[in-house]
This record gives sequence, structure tokens and C-alpha cells, in this order.
Amino acid sequence: MYRVTSFVLKIVSRCNLNCSYCYMYNMGDQTYLKQPKFMALETVQVFADRLHDYCESSKIEYVQIVFHGGEPLLAKPEYFEECVSIFKNTVPKVEFIFTVQTNGVTLTQNWYTLFQKLQISVGISIDGPKKYHDEYRVFHNGKGSYNLVAEAIQLGKKNNLAGLLLVVNIGIPINELYAEMKSLDVNSLNLLLPDGHYDQAPLGLDVNKWNDKNYTPYADWFMDLYKIWKADKDRPQIYFFETLVKMIMGQEGIGNQLIGRRTNGVIVLESDGSVEVVDSLRACFEGITRNEINVHNNRLEDIFENDTFQLYYRAHDNVAEQCLNCPVLDICGGGFLGHRYSEENGFDNPTMYCKDMVRLISFIQNDILSSLPEEAVAELDVEPLIYEEIINSFDEENEIKIDPEIQQQLISFKKEMLV
Ligand code: SF4
Repeated sequence: MYRVTSFVLKIVSRCNLNCSYCYMYNMGDQTYLKQPKFMALETVQVFADRLHDYCESSKIEYVQIVFHGGEPLLAKPEYFEECVSIFKNTVPKVEFIFTVQTNGVTLTQNWYTLFQKLQISVGISIDGPKKYHDEYRVFHNGKGSYNLVAEAIQLGKKNNLAGLLLVVNIGIPINELYAEMKSLDVNSLNLLLPDGHYDQAPLGLDVNKWNDKNYTPYADWFMDLYKIWKADKDRPQIYFFETLVKMIMGQEGIGNQLIGRRTNGVIVLESDGSVEVVDSLRACFEGITRNEINVHNNRLEDIFENDTFQLYYRAHDNVAEQCLNCPVLDICGGGFLGHRYSEENGFDNPTMYCKDMVRLISFIQNDILSSLPEEAVAELDVEPLIYEEIINSFDEENEIKIDPEIQQQLISFKKEMLV
């Protein structure tokens, strides 16, 4: 039984920026070139019709619609008005949460006013201080986009800016990053690990040190940020940290595709109406998300028969044997599916950020335990963790064995089985 409540609409398939790490344009997959530049309103209407049927049959009352791209603000303002009206008229019994994720470079007061009217909350992507942002988030002519994005963030303070999204760049010194967040007066920040997998190291990773058990550059970076953030009485929300802390404290049912044990109830609608698994998986290999399912011909539920969707939906249960035996599995969840890929094993690997996750989770868990009074610690079902012990345990014989069917499903994506 699958339950999807979050839909990412690729209303524009092109972008006015050309970020060097972008999974869509600069990693692995060029299939966006075959997509229409804009999703036709007829396609939005057909999708809304399918959504209506799906919500009725699955008794879904709340749906999140994320307007995404490419760059969604390449569409006209009236387009958003039409879309919202289509959804509200076609699926009247459902409560919608609308969000737009933009690079911010054309985000003016007029856009904010429109989004406030339509109750669309706005998220802006930024890569940190100007020097770092302008290295990667560049226009097609190579010019940096920071100044325009910073202006849009300033405007957002008196408008409905929901928060910033930042792809982690471990080359940014934490002091500089935090000072930037404070100077922009950011209320809410989400952090994403950069795309990458065993055959394609993300930016900033030294592949020569990858096998060194003590090489955890991402955890080191996150721990420094966590310390500054925790010490700041007027700290912004950092969703990644807050979720980790809540999970360590025992809260269930939270997390996302990166961490935790929740199912991944998200699907993507491409601009031609194709129904697919999240497109960040495309950093694995060309065409991984592609299938024959399209709202013009299919019900939304037809994606539930798709192998990649099935694996992704239960990605935090469909984990490698090492993860099944790992003491931090409930927090880490084996990581984002795309970060587990290798041509050699398909998805039958821990996340490529495995050591970093062990280090970071151990650090935060130990920090929480040392900050709480003894009685509170006694009530928590949480033990101190020792990084070295966990890492060394990965060399031992696994007590829990992986279900052969799940393993087969994971390795069915290895290169030689796909050709
Ligand atoms: S820390 Fe490593 S072994 Fe543990 S669950 Fe995460 S990816 Fe798997």
C-alpha cells in the first residue's frame, strides 16, 4: 500500500541559472532536453483530475504541491493563478499546501504579492556568502547571481519567505556561513547534502582519503555548524539539525528522503505530464527516473507498479545489510537512495555519507545526553555512542541478514544488469 501526498510539479523545464553541481543539467542525465519548456495548463488540469480520483479513492485530505523547475518563475504570474484555481476547483475537498522553490534571481515584490494572495509559500536556494554562491550559482554567461538572490531574501523579510535551502559546501568556513545567515536575518534554513554517489564524488570530497576511517569532512563541517548554532540564543531554525535532535529524543514519524525511517511519499510531474520518482536520483545514471507513465494516459497510482518508485518509497527500509546492523539506522535511515548508488552494486550500499552520518549522529546524541539532567537521561532510551566502535563493527560478521528479495531489488540497478 502506497500513500503519496506531496507532488513536485516541474512547471518549467529550463533554468536561467547553470549551477555547476545541478543534477538536472550537469550530472548524468540530459533527458530534460526532450521536455516541453513549460507545463501546459491542459496538463495541469489533467493532473488535477487524476489527483481528484486518487485523493477520493485513497481518502487523502491534505496535499502539498511544490512548484518547481528548472526555474518556476520563468512562468508568467497568471500561470500560477490558473494553477491554483485549477487545483481548488477540481479537488475541492482537499486542503492544499502550495510552495514554490525558486533560485530567487527574478523574485520581485510583485511576485511576493501574488504568492501572498495565492497562499503559496516561497523557498529560495542560496549557496552561502557571495564568494561561494557566485562560484557555483551562475548565469549561463558565467556571472554570479548572489546580489539578486540577496535582494530577494531582503524583500522576503516583509513578505512570505518561508526559508532558505542551501546545498552544503564544505569549502565554506562555518564562521563565514553563520555570519552570512545572521546578516541576511534568516529565520529558517534547510540543508541538503550535495548529489553524488560511489562513482561520482560530490564537490569538496577528497577521493584519495575516502577509505580512511577517520575522514568525515561533512560531519566535521556539520558539527562545527551545530556548535555555533546551538550556542546562539537567537538561532534560526535549521530543519536538518532539529529533525536529528527530535529523532534522537525518540520522536517518530518524522524525517525525509535524507534521514529517518519514513516512507518517501513524493512524486514528480514532469512538464510533459510524465509521472516519475524524484529527479535528484538522476545523478545516478541517464534515464533512471524515466518510465511510460503519463497523466494523459495513466492514473497516478500506476507509478506504484514502477520498480524505481517501489524502491524509493521504502528506501529507509530497503537498506543494505550493513545498515540493518547499524545502531544509528533509525536516525540515518541508510541515507538518500541516490547517495547509495554504485555501478558495481546498484543501491546495495550504505549511503556514501555513511561515516559522516555515524560521526554526526554520535556527536549530537552524546551532546544531548551530556546536556540533560540525569533523571531525563534515565527516561530516554538512548545510550552514548562511540564512533570508532560503530565503524569497526562494520568489519564484523553481520548478525542480521538482508532479505534476499530486497537485496536482489537493490542490486538490480547495477550497471551490468541494466544493459
Ligand atoms: S550510518 Fe551507515 S551503516 Fe548506519 S544506517 Fe547510515 S548508511 Fe547505514
